[in-house]
Amino acid sequence: MSEQKEIAVLAKNRTVLKFLETYFAGRKLFRADYFKTEDSFLKHIKARPPAAVISEISLLQSVSDRITRFPSVAIIDGDVKKGIEKAVGCSVRNYVLRPYLEIDLENRLESVILERDTFARMENEMKELEAVVELTQLISGTLDSKELLFKIVKKIAELIPVTRCSIIRVDWLHRSAFVVASFEDPLFTGIRLSLKKYPEIVEALTSKKPVVIRNVETDPLMKRVRDIIMPLGIRSILVLPIFYRDKVIGTLFLRTSRTDHSFSSNEVKLLHSLANASANTLYNAFLFEQIEDEKTRLEKLAITDYLTGIYNIRYFYNRIIEEFSRSQRYGLPISCLMFDIDFFKKINDVYGHKTGDHVLKEFAQLLKRHTRKSDVLARYGGEEFILLLPQTAREGAISEAERIRECIRIHKFKGLKNRKGLTVSVGISVFPHPKIKTHDELISFADNALFTAKNRGRNQVALYEE
Ligand code: GH3
Ligand code: MG
Ligand code: MG
Repeated sequence: MSEQKEIAVLAKNRTVLKFLETYFAGRKLFRADYFKTEDSFLKHIKARPPAAVISEISLLQSVSDRITRFPSVAIIDGDVKKGIEKAVGCSVRNYVLRPYLEIDLENRLESVILERDTFARMENEMKELEAVVELTQLISGTLDSKELLFKIVKKIAELIPVTRCSIIRVDWLHRSAFVVASFEDPLFTGIRLSLKKYPEIVEALTSKKPVVIRNVETDPLMKRVRDIIMPLGIRSILVLPIFYRDKVIGTLFLRTSRTDHSFSSNEVKLLHSLANASANTLYNAFLFEQIEDEKTRLEKLAITDYLTGIYNIRYFYNRIIEEFSRSQRYGLPISCLMFDIDFFKKINDVYGHKTGDHVLKEFAQLLKRHTRKSDVLARYGGEEFILLLPQTAREGAISEAERIRECIRIHKFKGLKNRKGLTVSVGISVFPHPKIKTHDELISFADNALFTAKNRGRNQVALYEE
């Protein structure tokens, strides 16, 4: 690509044209396009914005409104005083007078372009500074970390043209990474990233330095994942580590379809300050999430049976109290099924206690698979399980119990040699029943029915009816 700056020239005076043509013929830095009419000149600068424009003074007025956004130089011929007044009247303060000197034109041209570049850069820096201030204010004013992180990525996406921009949190303990904010969607959080697919993130995390991939297609780091990324239209990537007390706790992750300019050093600098500004927030979000996770984990642990992974009796009690009183209040039926594996002691004796444990686990999962979401299944203790069926009366409970008993009977247990089977006995109690007044009675009557099922020969269902 040529580095020459394009200059659009509007002139028809022979002397002026000759001077300009001679000047531009020997330039490496500049290249000129010449126009004799205002129309063609205006059409050209609209279609192909030049680095600067040059106009002879007699034609300047007719285009002056349309060239204000370009660095401009006027060439004055004829009356010098009138010419200067005219140029200034058109807001063009750079002009060349007779005798026309190449060095004069060169100086003018370079200074108008430099002035404009400097102005543009300052304007940009100002915008960036404003963004940092705005974000700092945001950070001190917002309580919700997630919302804040989203605002940060959104702001970044406004400042820098990127295809994707997100903040990634690293979980060193579990060697994984999560998207905590993404400008595409405020709800797009908590997504787990497989670090294997993001060598650039791994590189930023381990080197603790910014990683700039200027071209995904050619960068050796991206070789393995190139085929996945290229179809997404991503060409350049920037990953900035976010530190909290010397520890990398996350990264700012930007991807764009640009290759021409990739990420400029100014952009990297700006993003660096933004990344640092987000560190505290990210850390807070991280802590909050960790506490929430731990809370959920503990809550789950407290109601889960350690061996089988289904609910424990503690949870079951809470639920049966709730469901039983609902049934009483609204006059709805409710059933309770008690399961006890037949001759389970034998399993332990023949295969050992450990295999017994595996069989119990498999049995519990089997029950779980064959119950509805609204049912409450728990391990009652040992090899006994209990199932609550809200809004289920006698007939429903019996068919449910028979269905499960049959599923167990035909199941081939992985843990047992030759995939042997098991049978189960089931006791059922149903409310409303004249003798059942409390949830405890609902349970103990199911237990009694189970005793009956065992006595009648096992592998069967019995209903408490007396
Ligand atoms: P039945 O119920 O048909 O009368 O016969 P059973 O052999 O199942 O009799 P019982 O209920 O008296 O015995 C249950 C056995 O289950 C006793 C115990 O060793 C075993 N058991 C209870 N909890 C566990 C456990 O967590 N793991 C293992 N492996 N065995 C357990
Ligand atoms: Mg038992
Ligand atoms: Mg048993």
